[in-house]
Amino acid sequence: MPAWLDGVEPPLHVEQVLACFAEGIFVADARRRILAVNPAFSIITGFAPTDVTGASMSRLEGVRMDAAACRSMWRALRSTGHWRGELSCCTSAGVQLPLALSLSAVRDEHAVLTHYVGVFSDLSERKAEEERMVFRAQHDALTGLPNRYLLGERLTRALATASGHAGPVALLFLDLDRFKLINDSLGHRVGDLLLRSVAARLQSLIRPADTVARVGGDEFVFLLPHVEQPDVPATMAQRIISAMAEPFDIEGECLSIGASVGISMYPADAADADMLTRNADSAMYNAKARGGNCFEFYTAKLTSRAVERLILENSLRSGLEHDEFFIFYQPLVALPTGRVVGAEALLRWSHPILGILGPDRFIPTAEETGLIVDIGEWVLRRACAQNSLWQRQGLRPIRVSVNVSARQCRPQLVSAVSSALADSALDARYLALELTETTLMGDVGDTLHKLKALGVQLSIDDFGIGYSSLGYLKRFPIDNLKVDKSLIAEIGIGDRNSSIAGATIALAHSLNLTVTAEGAYAAWQGRYLRERGCDLVQGYYFSRPLPPHKLASLLRDGRAVRLGPSYMRSDT
Ligand code: C2E
Ligand code: MG
Ligand code: MG
Repeated sequence: MPAWLDGVEPPLHVEQVLACFAEGIFVADARRRILAVNPAFSIITGFAPTDVTGASMSRLEGVRMDAAACRSMWRALRSTGHWRGELSCCTSAGVQLPLALSLSAVRDEHAVLTHYVGVFSDLSERKAEEERMVFRAQHDALTGLPNRYLLGERLTRALATASGHAGPVALLFLDLDRFKLINDSLGHRVGDLLLRSVAARLQSLIRPADTVARVGGDEFVFLLPHVEQPDVPATMAQRIISAMAEPFDIEGECLSIGASVGISMYPADAADADMLTRNADSAMYNAKARGGNCFEFYTAKLTSRAVERLILENSLRSGLEHDEFFIFYQPLVALPTGRVVGAEALLRWSHPILGILGPDRFIPTAEETGLIVDIGEWVLRRACAQNSLWQRQGLRPIRVSVNVSARQCRPQLVSAVSSALADSALDARYLALELTETTLMGDVGDTLHKLKALGVQLSIDDFGIGYSSLGYLKRFPIDNLKVDKSLIAEIGIGDRNSSIAGATIALAHSLNLTVTAEGAYAAWQGRYLRERGCDLVQGYYFSRPLPPHKLASLLRDGRAVRLGPSYMRSDT
């Protein structure tokens, strides 16, 4: 019986006392092996006394205590005989439990260490309460979304990371349209329920790395910390607007609201978090001023580009279905004879709202959305059918070139080409495919050899602006090189530049490739190219792209035309 229980009447055993403790208690020997534990030990850790008796104390201390903390614990025990601190132990169920442990070293009368006694309590409730408090401080009570404070923290972090590498940050400021009207007329309870539904919908739109925060009554902010593709902010804004345009069912009432969104980008529009927020806010006011239910970029140019892209994306497919595309053919003239021996098929779109569009306006969107595959196949079929028709009309046969995007160049292209040829009854030698250097970067060797086996001609387009290595062309069955118009435009401006075009022609010939010069717009360029032995020219000087019937009359004439009427664009 310990001295402090002496004289207690009726007598009380120490284990009766220990059994009353809500704290877990263990006693270990000098070699740190557990000798005894109280019932609370088993309740907290899940280990029965028989599970732990004889086991090392490290069953309690280890796991979530790093080596340095462990060393300082033993040092304290040696010097002062006590240690108090927090650690986590693994319960019998394998769960990590945060504990507050107080550990004492017990010595006998000769100061020899005989035991360790540990007393610990379960901290998980307290930790959970702390976490709840932190959550409450960082989140909006009504919707559970991050609040202005947490948004600020994340924004600061996002800007710091963005400064380190390339990825821009986008901030989207959203203000609900007509919310105040609903709140005033139907009451705050309905208003609150509506805000909760709005928050849930907004939350469902974001990726895990993004944040949507509620920063005011009906104001929300989206933080997109890594914008990989330039169109992501506009697409997100459009998704937000569509999500808000769907009516909300609140207690049987069908409520209709809308959203105005302002977008500001870091680092393009702002130098810091404050400015970024202010600019997104002011862009949002511009969207409201336009009548709401729309978005605005802080930089106006981005807005019109993004809006156009969205319009295009939505109408490309219907454009194909409604036969809004058409093809102009630009003559390819043989040197030195001046005869038209081919034509390049160049796509145009008669858009119901935007008018006639050149390929530069819509091909990039078609490529991004993958619609280029269907559009490209349409061009292929139409160009083959047209060429076959000219031949059946008795015109001198020419070879028509069709542009092929990198995304189209996959194994299916082979069957698309062979069925376009078969359906139009066109001999393969009257078809050429123009590929870009980017296409050759992909895994296309097999596809190109199969295309070549069909008998079509393969050209490399825009040579001189990309990778521009003649050597690697040897790996592919290429017949023809089209020298980009930027190299042709420089002919004669300086000796060096003109020699680049000349040298390219010579090198291509040494590789048994024929050469086409693109974009010859002046007589002296034609002369220079003829002197260098260039095989074909294409350019405004000889002819602009023409509608099919004009090309037919040109073929009937049998000679090259000079600058026809301007069908499409100015000579820039
Ligand atoms: P590209 O294949 O290099 O076609 C030549 C472009 O240069 C055409 O522009 C043509 O009108 C223009 N051009 C020809 N001669 C001259 C000249 O003397 N001066 C100037 N400044 N330009 C000249 P276009 O029709 O606007 O086509 C632009 C690009 O769009 C094409 O470049 C091609 O890469 C792409 N494209 C056109 N049609 C298609 C298509 O059906 N499918 C795919 N994937 N791309 C297409
Ligand atoms: Mg081309
Ligand atoms: Mg070209």
